[in-house]
Amino acid sequence: MKKVKIFPVIIYVGLLILLFTWLLGMFSSGTDGLKYSDVIAQFQKENVSSFQVDGDTITMELHNPLNGKKQVSAKLADPAAFHQQLQPLLQEQTESGVLKWYNFLPEAELSPYDFILPIILAGLVLLLVWGFLAGRANNNHPLNNFGRANATNGQTGKKVTFQDVAGMEEEKKELQEVVDFLRQPDKFTKIGAKIPHGILLSGPPGTGKTLLARAVAGEADVQFLSISGSDFMEMYVGVGASRVRDLFEQARKIAPAIIFIDEIDAVGRKRGSGMGGGHDEREQTLNQLLVEMDGFTKSEGVIVLAATNRHDILDPALLRPGRFDRQIYVGVPDASEREAILKVHAKGKCLDDSVNLNTVALATAGFTGADLSNLLNEAAILAAREDRPALNMNDLNEAMMKVLAGPEKRSRVRLQKDLRLTAIHEAGHAVAMYSLPTHDPVRQISIIPRGRALGLTWTQPEQESNHLTRNEMYEMIVGLLGGRVAEELFLKDISTGASNDIDRASKLARDMVGRYGMCPTLGTVSYTGGEELFIGRDFERTKSYSEKVAGTMDDEVKALMDKAYKHCADILTRDSEKLKQVVKFLLDNETMSGSQFAQCMQGQPIDENGQSSLFAEFETEE
Ligand code: ADP
Ligand code: MG
Ligand code: ZN
Repeated sequence: MKKVKIFPVIIYVGLLILLFTWLLGMFSSGTDGLKYSDVIAQFQKENVSSFQVDGDTITMELHNPLNGKKQVSAKLADPAAFHQQLQPLLQEQTESGVLKWYNFLPEAELSPYDFILPIILAGLVLLLVWGFLAGRANNNHPLNNFGRANATNGQTGKKVTFQDVAGMEEEKKELQEVVDFLRQPDKFTKIGAKIPHGILLSGPPGTGKTLLARAVAGEADVQFLSISGSDFMEMYVGVGASRVRDLFEQARKIAPAIIFIDEIDAVGRKRGSGMGGGHDEREQTLNQLLVEMDGFTKSEGVIVLAATNRHDILDPALLRPGRFDRQIYVGVPDASEREAILKVHAKGKCLDDSVNLNTVALATAGFTGADLSNLLNEAAILAAREDRPALNMNDLNEAMMKVLAGPEKRSRVRLQKDLRLTAIHEAGHAVAMYSLPTHDPVRQISIIPRGRALGLTWTQPEQESNHLTRNEMYEMIVGLLGGRVAEELFLKDISTGASNDIDRASKLARDMVGRYGMCPTLGTVSYTGGEELFIGRDFERTKSYSEKVAGTMDDEVKALMDKAYKHCADILTRDSEKLKQVVKFLLDNETMSGSQFAQCMQGQPIDENGQSSLFAEFETEE
């Protein structure tokens, strides 16, 4: 649900007030509230020494002050009639010298600015308000489309097909059925086959869900109505529901068609979990969506695709048969899929001979499709910046670090003492990790600041696995503590640089104890459950366990962290000589490659000229 932004509202209101006061000022230029009879009375009393009528305002200079003022002004409903009525008096009084002079200015002596300016201003304010409201409705959609669905027809852009989606063979196969159905609905309906109403794509952000949905439309060559879940959410109650109705109406008209609802979690959140107001709108929208999905029959040739990365918070009613009854999980790509994705995005980019996309794929475990596309783009930008015709492995290396940790900040001023602290900290991580059998190998250590980090110890697995064992999680904690422990042991002081490490380690420990049931005292119980509650802006979970358990959990987490800390301290004390060597190497060279580090740890001479590229570690001899 969008929040009303306070700031622009203040500006608009302010502008409106300004305009109104200004306009009011225009039409009532400081009169003294005198009645017409009062004005006439002043003349009859021979009290006016001079006067001027400007438009419909009369300003009089008096002999004897009226209400304490020598100069008064008043409005005249009809200046011409006033002139007529006063004619005899004026003549008489000018002759007697009571009235020294008078002047009638022609009516409507308004300068062009006087009326053009307010019109322009009013127009401007209207435009602003209109833009503000329309922007809220949907980027550049006018007010009269308010309750309309604003679905965009995805086919207008470049047509996407399954070829543009690398990897994901199973997912594509599942969706191929949908494509076949949309192409030849008769073939399926004749034999009574049921095609799902709705298909839900779920998975982490950037894994290509939106892309896949567009590819289905491209393959089937049908109309594609795409809308984002948040488009349903407006500040006006009822808009969302009417948009849903409209969307399905449009789709039926142009069937066969695909309706694609991106980020469906914005509307599809579990009902009844909200606190306070503002949720009726979402519930109405969701209800309308459910009604529409039940309402259309399978032969109509409309299929609803939806995508979300918060599958867990969707209302169960959405997922029952007849609605989104088929779910496709789109996961993070594996090494071969990563290579395929890299190849798709390398098209149209000039790569030089040094580039081996297989190596890049191996070194990018955990990257999503979006990350990989970003990686290649960053690399191309780097090459273009240096006017090189093709991008090389170094560009990719730098781009990868940049995507993950931010750009290098060589120009940042670094004190010698900070450099030493960073070197000790990073060496601590690396040496600890080296001695942990299940820990991912160290690929690079660097004391060049990057993004928010002052240094980096880079690890990357040989082979990715989808599970973490208790031992692996524990050793990750030990590795994360390496920096802090090294500071403590070798500087006899500790710094703030370890705060992120400690956050991550603590979170791991908490998950081990409370989430994965890895702690014997608490048993194999997950303590994360509970209702999701909407509190202010965020969803929070209520506790589903007692205070006593919470206390025990805290104790267990603390015990686990203490154990890891001690384990780490033991390793670093044992290997203190090697750690010092690593520190020295880092202070001399700023970066240390994984193989140089391994040489050092194995007591071999360090090859000073070794490759510092991350990818060197993944180069496969073929
Ligand atoms: P999601 O909707 O899952 O968050 P997107 O579909 O928006 O992710 O993907 C973002 C971008 O990542 C796409 O535009 C595409 O460039 C790239 N991408 C993701 N997955 C793939 C893939 N399997 N093949 C090719 N490109 C991909
Ligand atoms: Mg998306
Ligand atoms: Zn650290």
